[in-house]
Amino acid sequence: MSQVYVVGHASGQPSPGGFGIIIRQGGRVLLEREQALDITTTLSATLTGVREALTELPPGCIYTEIHINHITAYNLLMELIQPDRHRVKDILNEITILAGQRRIETEYIHLWPGTHRDLDTAETMAHSSARRAWTTIGSPACPHCGDQMTSRRLTDGSFWVCQTPHCGGRLRQYERSI
Ligand SMILES: [Zn+2]
Repeated sequence: MSQVYVVGHASGQPSPGGFGIIIRQGGRVLLEREQALDITTTLSATLTGVREALTELPPGCIYTEIHINHITAYNLLMELIQPDRHRVKDILNEITILAGQRRIETEYIHLWPGTHRDLDTAETMAHSSARRAWTTIGSPACPHCGDQMTSRRLTDGSFWVCQTPHCGGRLRQYERSI
């Protein structure tokens, strides 16, 4: 039996984000993985994490518990509600196909945040990958030096600020803010 803990995170909806996954087998950690994602939502990032976990599990894991803290993701995976966006529907289809191809029988379990250590660790991983996504995937290039920029909220609004010390390059954010 395997236990999987998946948490997705995006600070804006949508925005750069990420997910964290922990897979345990026989009590031992088989895999810890975090991944930054381009523009996503917490829901999409959670479902993407579930999909990635299914690709990482050894085939033929007859019984796998997948623990998630996102109630909408749980309701979608349990088919208690229907997806209203194409992107979400696509990921759900991929999850069903992958589970079938890899002969993995899944049981989904909803856990509230703060109730399981592995889930909390996965959440920390999701937050750190989301931060990375903001500074790499989601940032424009500095207009002065071409380096990556970091999102900052300053007193006069939200800006992209150059990461290079003393460059001073900045761009006002019109559409996105953290
Ligand atoms: Zn710069």
